[in-house]
Amino acid sequence: MLYKTEGIVLKSMEYEEADKIVTIYTKNYGKITAIAKGVRKTKSKFGSSLEILTHSVFLFYKGRNIDIVSQAEILESFFSVSKEVIKFAFAANCVEVVNKLTEEREINIDLFNLLKEVLHYLRESNNPKLLTLSFKWQTMSILGYRPSLNHCCRCNKSVKDQKEMYFNIKEGGLVCNNCIVKDKEGCVKVSIYFNKLVRKILITPLSTISNATIPDEKIKELEKITDLYIAYHSEKSFKTDRFLKFL
Ligand SMILES: [Zn+2]
Repeated sequence: MLYKTEGIVLKSMEYEEADKIVTIYTKNYGKITAIAKGVRKTKSKFGSSLEILTHSVFLFYKGRNIDIVSQAEILESFFSVSKEVIKFAFAANCVEVVNKLTEEREINIDLFNLLKEVLHYLRESNNPKLLTLSFKWQTMSILGYRPSLNHCCRCNKSVKDQKEMYFNIKEGGLVCNNCIVKDKEGCVKVSIYFNKLVRKILITPLSTISNATIPDEKIKELEKITDLYIAYHSEKSFKTDRFLKFL
């Protein structure tokens, strides 16, 4: 059986003498891990379409153990590692997050579109770090890990007028002053600015965030909590790596 879909390459690795195993986030089928046979023998356009961060239309064959990617037509090659090292690193980080947080064959067109968008705006952005962090929060929200930022994640009381804010990574949101007295474990103190910023990020298009500016120390706080939050939620997702070991 053949099938065709648009996709963005999340990961590409050499396999045996001439093959490549690629992980592609596709629009219509979610994440797919497939093999491209003999692709490293010749220098071809097909080979370039299997590089990380390339957006193409792919043609797959249904295989017995693993699907085979047999043809591709490049739509857009987002970054070149040699020309734009820093932006490439941010873009590579975005696809890594998508790879870590998704399961094979779970379709999510919103996430596909968001990924395409972040790669597009990263090229123009004055603030690639803020854009990448915002992409991560929006990704978490799309995947059902939207944090609770208006109400306490334990008792649901409004946290609006609180002077001190605590974020709990595991529980997925802010913890109010009453609840914090009872149990402080796993709670990280955050600024009021952080709370406002993440709330804003979750409702603002990446095109707008792309050229926004915020103070450096605020970015640092945002980065710290983002990394903790992503690390916690991605711990469980190592299925692809395990699957590759069986080949
Ligand atoms: Zn509470």
